[in-house]
Amino acid sequence: MNPEITEQEVSNKPATPQRTFADLNVSDDILQAVTEMGFEHPSPIQAEAIPPILDGRDVIGQAQTGTGKTAAFGIPAIEMIDVAERHPQVLVLCPTRELALQVSDEVKKLSKFKRGIRVEAIYGGDSIDRQIKSLKTGVHIVIGTPGRVMDHMERRTLKLDNVKMMILDEADEMLDMGFREDIEGILEEMPEERQTILFSATMSKPIMAITQRFQKDPVLVKVVKNELTNTNIEQVYFEVKPKAKVEVMCRLIDTYNLKLLLVFCNQKKRVDEIVEDLQVRGYQAEGLHGDLRQAQRNNVMSKFRSGVTNILVATDVAARGIDVDNVDAVINYDIPLDEEYYVHRIGRTGRAGKSGKAFSLVGRDEKYRFREIQNYTKVRVEKGVIPTFEDIVGLRKARFIDQVKQSIETSNDLNLYDDMLTALQHAGFTTEQIVAALVKRGMGIEKNEFSDQNLGHDDDRRERREGSGRFGDRDRGGRESSGRFGDRGRGEGSGRFSDRGTRGEARFGDRDRGGRFGNRDESRGEGRRFEREDRDRAPREREANMTRLYVSVGRRDFIRPGDIVGAIAGEANIPGSSIGHIDIFDKHTYVDVPRDVANRVVDVMEGNTIKGKRVQIEIAR
Ligand code: ADP
Ligand code: MG
Repeated sequence: MNPEITEQEVSNKPATPQRTFADLNVSDDILQAVTEMGFEHPSPIQAEAIPPILDGRDVIGQAQTGTGKTAAFGIPAIEMIDVAERHPQVLVLCPTRELALQVSDEVKKLSKFKRGIRVEAIYGGDSIDRQIKSLKTGVHIVIGTPGRVMDHMERRTLKLDNVKMMILDEADEMLDMGFREDIEGILEEMPEERQTILFSATMSKPIMAITQRFQKDPVLVKVVKNELTNTNIEQVYFEVKPKAKVEVMCRLIDTYNLKLLLVFCNQKKRVDEIVEDLQVRGYQAEGLHGDLRQAQRNNVMSKFRSGVTNILVATDVAARGIDVDNVDAVINYDIPLDEEYYVHRIGRTGRAGKSGKAFSLVGRDEKYRFREIQNYTKVRVEKGVIPTFEDIVGLRKARFIDQVKQSIETSNDLNLYDDMLTALQHAGFTTEQIVAALVKRGMGIEKNEFSDQNLGHDDDRRERREGSGRFGDRDRGGRESSGRFGDRGRGEGSGRFSDRGTRGEARFGDRDRGGRFGNRDESRGEGRRFEREDRDRAPREREANMTRLYVSVGRRDFIRPGDIVGAIAGEANIPGSSIGHIDIFDKHTYVDVPRDVANRVVDVMEGNTIKGKRVQIEIAR
């Protein structure tokens, strides 16, 4: 190894505290561009490589694909351009035409707010005359493949006399492709006084040779790959239909009694949707995404740390820098686009010697990607069986019985309530009825539109039915038990699922228990998801068996989905989860309810109030 190299090794794990692009001393033009591109924080390679490049140092950047290397050199390259000088000042070499185009696209986006800057990709297979014309008019950043760059140099249509920065992107790839001589030829033609930057995923001997010959006192910035060394994490995946993902997630939360968990999804807008769905179901969930201001972010985080919120839903980028130790489980609501993200995500649980769980909800079109992830991490993830409704009910009953026992054993003021039993008995109820009613209020089990059969992938049912796992294995921990979730009781349980409204099921009426809808961050602008939909979305197709109702209150009355669900479910005595899509507009709201209860809902709600406002309600035309 080159003894002069100053080595700077950084982990791909987010460093805390999280740095911002502003911390890297980049210009406002760049800040504006990265914001528009949706970058919230610099990636590790960016955070480590941008400052020395801006300082004029030669840099070797070593990092895997997908870690943001383009912006790591692209940002300082843009910063050093003097637009008044109309000749090439930065030359980027890429191994292929595709990569050259990709880099030029990214650099163009990054330089969008730098006025007058010109970026051009030159590569084989494109008209050389067109490229010559373009180069003549003055290009500042040239991004090209080695062969075509040599070609232009020989024709003297590309002059390198004023190039101050030379970047070799994917250097190992270029060498593998046999571009070594071209690269050396190009570097020899360059002015002595220049900065040479080299990015590569690997550090082979030939790379080191180039480095020694053409770089001066380089800084090596290395982003080490996180190995999946943590064996405390039980990884299980479930094959789930996209629309059943929240339902399955809730069943897993209930089954495993998860107290603190992180839910990851790939898209910002999904965050709000998932949070909404979880809150409507009575879970204390909050979202974390790039649209939050720092103060809001801090607020969300402190609620999560203290356990006020037990579920944090986030995108990968927004979750960078989250450092919480006691996370019971990570749920991959969808499968990350990058293998490294998977490693990062699940690495949030099972910390500090504790065990953790990582559940991945795999849609049909995500199966391939999930396999790729397993190849990458070299861990075979077990397939789990989705808990059935009966499973959930059984577990919750058992848990409730424990709680009651504990209350009886540890409270010394139970006689405070004696007179209530007497009063209810005097009113003509049996002890069994009274207990059942109290249990119902206390437990809050709801049925919803999901039957056990419509959660997984369709071809999956036979497999499930034959599943041999026993439910009881679950708590033992060890690997062999993971995911073997016997679907006990499904035979007779599943049929009963649809007959909502028979006795024994708790209804939605106990929503007021413990702030099920509380704790929303008021400042977050509840209507956002809906506002966007008002404008951009064609009217959603109505689901079968649902009737759309018009309600005469809307955003102007500060109505939120939870208010609508709460009012309708509570007044009409139907499960909140049976209520379908809700579209809140400025002055009115549309809500889908099951067709068979629509008239009842209209009857009890007409003239009733929601959030103190008297409403009119009717079946929408
Ligand atoms: P590499 O060259 O290391 O393979 P790229 O530069 O092509 O990676 O970046 C991969 C993807 O990540 C691109 O879509 C890019 O726009 C995106 N990206 C880069 N930096 C960031 C960042 N700081 N935050 C979010 N996304 C980023
Ligand atoms: Mg790249």
